[in-house]
Amino acid sequence: MGSKSYDEAIAALKKLLSEKKELAPMAAAKIDQITAQLQTLDSTKPGFDPVERIKTGFAKFKTEKYLKNPALYGELSKGQSPKFMAFACSDSRVCPSHVLDFQPGEAFVVRNVANIVPPFDKLKYAGVGSAVEYAVLHLKVEQIVVIGHSKCGGIKGLMTFPDEGPTSTDFIEDWVKVGLPAKSKVKAEHGSASIDDQCVSCEKEAVNVSLANLLTYPFVRNGLINKTLAIKGAHYDFVNGTFELWALEFSLSPTTSA
Ligand SMILES: [Zn+2]
Repeated sequence: MGSKSYDEAIAALKKLLSEKKELAPMAAAKIDQITAQLQTLDSTKPGFDPVERIKTGFAKFKTEKYLKNPALYGELSKGQSPKFMAFACSDSRVCPSHVLDFQPGEAFVVRNVANIVPPFDKLKYAGVGSAVEYAVLHLKVEQIVVIGHSKCGGIKGLMTFPDEGPTSTDFIEDWVKVGLPAKSKVKAEHGSASIDDQCVSCEKEAVNVSLANLLTYPFVRNGLINKTLAIKGAHYDFVNGTFELWALEFSLSPTTSA
């Protein structure tokens, strides 16, 4: 028990079998058993067992992370004070905890289709609104980062759905159309580019629309004016393995009454 790596484990097994050849059939049977067991954890294989996958995933987290960091988890049991609020797409490839190595307690995260921050609207967007309110006013996060990404299905939808007329989806079209100003800008500036290139531009422009929408939340504006809060846009490209980060491009001017 306790070989440090797969290679060491295999080397130890080979050594044992070279010394005791009679154990070979038993070893082969055990290896078959392990292979079958591991297959239940691979979601791409037919024998995949979702319950087993969840249990094994938690067991691994518990032994490798939770039990090894009692100080961190002890601290987190008392409360959270994350420095970041992050918006990311629901896409299974772009989890910000993975991509940016956010540790538990570091980032308050909202994930939705196309990583959209809708404008302040108590009736239509209470879900996102309550997250922004809680993060800014109660957790007092110092940074809000909106992270777009390559090959975003939501953004492709925005670029290809008709802008007007009846919708063919219950929720998706109305939701991604929050990003229509981004689509219009991309069509105006890059209308002759391929649809793939237009999507890449829109993935970034939609982040800028979200940054502008963040300014419609009074507590976000106040945070920016008082410099207790900064907001940033980002684009994670998993095709090329790059991450682009930019600051809010809008200048804040005092509200003027006409
Ligand atoms: Zn996406």
